[in-house]
Amino acid sequence: MTRTLLSLEGRWKALLLALAVGLVFGLLDVGEPMERVGQVVRDKLRNHAGSGSVVLVAIDDRSLRDVGALPWNGEQLAELVRRVDAAGARRIHLDANLDQIGSRRQAVALESALASARADILLPARFSIDPISGTRADYLPPDRLARHARIVNSNLRVSWDGAIWSHPHGARAGDRLIPSLAAELAGSAEPSESLFRIDYGIDLRSIPVVSAYDLLRDAVPDHRLQGRQVVIARTDLAADHYRAPSFGLVPAAFFHLIAAETLTAGRPLDLGWAPLLLLCALAAAAVVGLRPRVAASAILGATVAVLVAAPLLLEQNFIHTDVVPALALLATASLYRLITGLRRAYRARGTTDLLTGLPNLQALRQAESRGGGIVVAARIMNYARIATTLQVPLEKELVEQIVGRLEFGSGGATTYQAGPGVFAWIAENMEEDDLVQQLEGLQALFRSPIVIGPRLIDIAVTFGIDTEDDRPLTQRAASALVAADEAAREGKRWASFNPASAADADWRLSLLARLDHAIEHRELWVAYQPKVDCQSGRIVGAEALVRWTHPEKGQLQPDQFIAAAEQGGRIDALTAFVLDTALADMASFNRRGRRFSVAVNLSAQLLDSLTLVPTVEAALRKHGFSPELLTLEVTETSTLGSGARQIANLQRLSRLGVELSIDDYGTGFSTLEYLKRIPASELKIDRSFIGMLDKSKGDRIMVNSTIQLAHSLGRRVVAEGVENAEVLAELKRMRCDVVQGYHLGRPMPVADLRKLLKASGASRQAA
Ligand code: C2E
Ligand code: CA
Ligand code: CA
Repeated sequence: MTRTLLSLEGRWKALLLALAVGLVFGLLDVGEPMERVGQVVRDKLRNHAGSGSVVLVAIDDRSLRDVGALPWNGEQLAELVRRVDAAGARRIHLDANLDQIGSRRQAVALESALASARADILLPARFSIDPISGTRADYLPPDRLARHARIVNSNLRVSWDGAIWSHPHGARAGDRLIPSLAAELAGSAEPSESLFRIDYGIDLRSIPVVSAYDLLRDAVPDHRLQGRQVVIARTDLAADHYRAPSFGLVPAAFFHLIAAETLTAGRPLDLGWAPLLLLCALAAAAVVGLRPRVAASAILGATVAVLVAAPLLLEQNFIHTDVVPALALLATASLYRLITGLRRAYRARGTTDLLTGLPNLQALRQAESRGGGIVVAARIMNYARIATTLQVPLEKELVEQIVGRLEFGSGGATTYQAGPGVFAWIAENMEEDDLVQQLEGLQALFRSPIVIGPRLIDIAVTFGIDTEDDRPLTQRAASALVAADEAAREGKRWASFNPASAADADWRLSLLARLDHAIEHRELWVAYQPKVDCQSGRIVGAEALVRWTHPEKGQLQPDQFIAAAEQGGRIDALTAFVLDTALADMASFNRRGRRFSVAVNLSAQLLDSLTLVPTVEAALRKHGFSPELLTLEVTETSTLGSGARQIANLQRLSRLGVELSIDDYGTGFSTLEYLKRIPASELKIDRSFIGMLDKSKGDRIMVNSTIQLAHSLGRRVVAEGVENAEVLAELKRMRCDVVQGYHLGRPMPVADLRKLLKASGASRQAA
């Protein structure tokens, strides 16, 4: 029972959406804060000491207390430079306010200190850009000092979050491109204005710091500066401070040093967000494309692991990547799956059978789009009987085993539960012949009993199929079921749905309502078939036969609606109508003294009715019709005259003076005993004995003996279904009383009967 979790189309949609979200994150830097949190975590994990090759000589608060407040004049700075130089420093960067170094004498002192130093001197240049006007101002050291030094840029890049994340390789000063202090200290090649990420995996606290105060008091051993590069800068409380990620506020000088350490360790490379996003998109596409869920989950897991580990490993090699856009992609895809999963679960509540967990007809309706195929229904005939003896968990097991066999035999098609013990599936890409063969195989599978616990359960199953693939699936499932039931009724293993008989079924359903309408609107009428005296050939009466002229279906025969009327409780109204019509017609015939009789058919069912006798009585009275001219024909059945009320009704009718006739005589089980019990004055031998009378000796014997028997009991005999002169002659020889049949006259409208009577009356008069 493997079912796709998400339609393939839905999956690709999810992938596209995820990719779009990832791109938005990457292009708009939406994930920057999150990215930075991840960065801080990784930096803490990678925390390590720097090379320590650059030493900070800190003009700290202690120094200020001792030497004096800032700005220090040229002499004070010169003293500091001389001390550093004397300690053997290789390079000295003096970061101080060189525009305010006091008197000329003091300025000269600094100039000579710089000029005479053995170490290389670096001096800062920086620029500022007015945030509002955008105008740029450059600050360069005075020429007299700059003459003795290399000029480096000392700008810092402060990010929107107040922290410093990256640093320039160099900057423009006037018309020259000069290296940043960090780049110069790291000895990196050509300056450029591009930025690099500061590696905060290097511990800020590993930067060697010497207090200017100690240095000026000779309290620093020479080896600490020997051969080193030295940056002299402020670290006092009033100096500029910026936020270093995961450290907090740090004096500006530290950023130059940590940036220098970053460049010293290796050349940093920033890959940005695109590579990981691409990787994740590929992985997600693989997940979408892959059918086995195990492989999909493995790829997903691997991708997440890569997203966590890759940046860490890459940063060890000075390569930086952004993770958040890729994570956003994965999160979106997962969220989409989660939501569709939940929605599906929610929907599934209405599309799953509560007991068995199988998809139901509702689910079949949703499978609509697939179309095509043959719909097969399987009905377990004895399901209700089995299920009543099983507890719920066992019933579930029973269904599972049945479905297991069905799915095995149907080649793994999804089985839907169409009701208790009723299953359906769609046989796709199959010819009807192959399917029938498959169903035969399934039948064989079901021949061995199902084992539930200690019980062996025999399963009887029939199949129905519907091949009309232009109708909605649920309707086709219902049709297949109808066919399965038909197969069961006819003792067949399978049956194909027949739309013609379905139309019949529809028709039968609407028939009752139509019948009421027909009685009211005179769509019903009565045909009369002559009854002829066998010896004289005179028409002595007629049988009233109901007809229905349906506005759409045309002329309907009684077989098409009498049974339905009986079952639907409309037979009394119908009989009342026929009786009323027949008596009205015949009364008009008899007005001139004629004694013409009429036979009306009576459903055996009406013999149980309390209103039968009053109805007959009222009709006779209404038309002033002599009771002895009315015959009521009752079909012979095994139960005729068995109930007390039936007997009572028959006797009351006979007391009214109405004649009773046993119709279709010979087809039932009448015994002599039964003939005596029923107060009938007439036997009407069924036409199945009469039709072949001239050819079948057996029929001749049967009819002859029936006539003898009836006469010996004082009953009149009518033979119906006389279709030719030979039969008529035979019946005459047997001394049959009355004959009826196509040879003597078909059922006809009352007007035709009237004409026939006139003609025969004329001929009789002529005779
Ligand atoms: P039934 O009472 O046996 O009626 C005789 C049927 O035999 C009539 O069919 C008639 O048309 C047909 N028939 C007459 N002569 C011949 C013949 O020579 N050869 C053949 N092959 N058939 C012949 P119909 O009119 O189709 O009636 C069928 C049945 O419907 C009747 O059988 C009767 O049982 C029932 N029926 C007809 N009208 C009524 C009615 O008003 N009330 C009730 N309760 N049943 C009726
Ligand atoms: Ca009849
Ligand atoms: Ca009959």
